[in-house]
Amino acid sequence: MNKRLLVVGSGASGVHFALSTLRKGYQVTMLDVALPKPPAACPEETLDGLKDHLSDPVEYFLGEGNESIVLPGTSDNYRARYFGIPPSRSYVFESPKAFSYEASGFEPLFSFARGGLAEAWTGGAYPLEDHDLRDFPFGYETLEKYYEEVTQRIGINGTADDLTRFLPLQKALMAPLDLDENSKDLIERYQGKRSLLAKKFRCYIGRSRVATLSREQDGRGECTYCGRCLWGCPNESLYTPSITLQACLQFPNFTYLPGLMANYFIADSQQHLTGIAAESLVDGQRHTFQADTYVLAAGTLCSSKIYLDTLFKATGEIQKLTGLMDNRQVLVPFINLHCIGNGYAGDRYQYHQLGLGLEMDDPAEYVHGQITTLKTAQTHPLLQLMPLDLRSAIKVYQLLRTSLGVVNLSFHDTRRPENFLSITPEDKSGHTKLSIQYRPRKGQGQSINLALKRLRGALAELGSFVVPGMTVIRPMGSSLHYSGTLGMSEQPKPLHTSKFCQSYDFENLYVVDGSVIPFLPAKNITLTLMANAVRVAEEAF
Ligand SMILES: Cc1cc2nc3c(=O)[nH]c(=O)nc-3n(C[C@H](O)[C@H](O)[C@H](O)COP(=O)(O)OP(=O)(O)OC[C@H]3O[C@@H](n4cnc5c(N)ncnc54)[C@H](O)[C@@H]3O)c2cc1C
Ligand code: SF4
Repeated sequence: MNKRLLVVGSGASGVHFALSTLRKGYQVTMLDVALPKPPAACPEETLDGLKDHLSDPVEYFLGEGNESIVLPGTSDNYRARYFGIPPSRSYVFESPKAFSYEASGFEPLFSFARGGLAEAWTGGAYPLEDHDLRDFPFGYETLEKYYEEVTQRIGINGTADDLTRFLPLQKALMAPLDLDENSKDLIERYQGKRSLLAKKFRCYIGRSRVATLSREQDGRGECTYCGRCLWGCPNESLYTPSITLQACLQFPNFTYLPGLMANYFIADSQQHLTGIAAESLVDGQRHTFQADTYVLAAGTLCSSKIYLDTLFKATGEIQKLTGLMDNRQVLVPFINLHCIGNGYAGDRYQYHQLGLGLEMDDPAEYVHGQITTLKTAQTHPLLQLMPLDLRSAIKVYQLLRTSLGVVNLSFHDTRRPENFLSITPEDKSGHTKLSIQYRPRKGQGQSINLALKRLRGALAELGSFVVPGMTVIRPMGSSLHYSGTLGMSEQPKPLHTSKFCQSYDFENLYVVDGSVIPFLPAKNITLTLMANAVRVAEEAF
């Protein structure tokens, strides 16, 4: 058996693949850019405690040069709308100088952090069902035990309710967290109107599935409702992949190589990889590393770039990887009239606690929603969106604060040839640039309008109203569920992977991140990336 594995990337996909193969006795080396996380400030403090006890709270909340302030007129991207990225999380989205890209119709975010994008995720963890897996070479029955395994590893809370019709129930789910007042009001009103909402709007509401501990597990504390979720959970209740990386580091058969950017694999003429070329981010030195089998888990966009660079180095040809997918997301702010004027409390879990499902005629076109009520978010981006002067905006905001919320609707996507990744030739430093093209799905506007109509109706029945003029159709690239560029296919074909995520171009290369996903349902995909990575580790190794 070939025992030496080299994994690129320490994100959600890479760490779960690594943990499973380490447990099976493989020698695993992980190569990672690994931008490090700053230590948590005063971990014992609540959010309000930080304001009182930090020596320089302004720097903590707004950054050394106030860079976290979102100025009026800032472009319509992730940072500018509703959720600012706080300085304590900016490392998650920084890129090394050696990396560059150009994009048309797509606004991507990359992460080169230790643990990847999910160091800043909001923990929504939803299993797919057979409809969602319609283009996968396997069904729910195959994934079920890996969903269960990952649920145990990371800790997910949730419960049986009306969303179970869309979200199969894992036995290992923990009890849900305590609800904030606005979410509690919504779900209680929903209980009285559930038949009506189902009949009139095909709309179902229940508890979100969230990767946050409601009881202690593996040395991680249960959620203390300290309100710091957006700034980074100080006691590891909210799962991040660096927790699993820490578990991998306990194995003597694990070698972690941070500070290295993988550029391309070295291939011989037999479609066999003999090494990987990487460069140090410290001194720019180039290195090669050898293993028996190589595993790409650098996130869809970066894994695809490494794949394209490998083909370019091996053949001199520039290829296109078609089928790029991402969920279209629409942010729908609403006011719950029953909560206007209620006092604000900072000691609440901050992210979404309720989920919402809109049933469609084709079950694969199900629309998924996460309901986040406003608690301790960065508020200045919201204030500036109000058509009022600052003083009036603050007054109105204080009155409305606990009644506000946002439904984040997600729509499915399919692999289409017009959406692709490619590279432009090397510059003087020997690096290629990643190029991205994305064009929206035909008919998507109608799907969005239909979903919005049903959502407005359903919220109104619950005494909540969509705020006029504030619904935002986010640019493609915002959902960060990038996938589909090296899709799994039972038919062997170039630029694709097998059912076990083995490349059809290079026999000793596996891809275990979103690149291999052949259809992107509306449900946030990261739980499935982790479960699939464990499946490959268990069934192909
Ligand atoms: C704010 C936010 C909220 C989100 N909320 C949710 C949610 O609620 N639910 C959900 O399902 N998903 C959510 N996501 C998406 C989720 O974070 C991603 O799906 C997930 O992180 C993808 O994991 P990955 O391992 O495939 O890739 P990534 O997270 O992109 O990790 C890539 C890894 O590869 C390394 N790397 C990259 N290139 C190289 C290279 N050339 N050489 C060496 N190393 C390299 C990086 O350092 C990193 O460790 C959210 C993301 C964000 C940012
Ligand atoms: S999950 Fe959020 S509220 Fe809970 S302990 Fe962590 S930061 Fe605090």
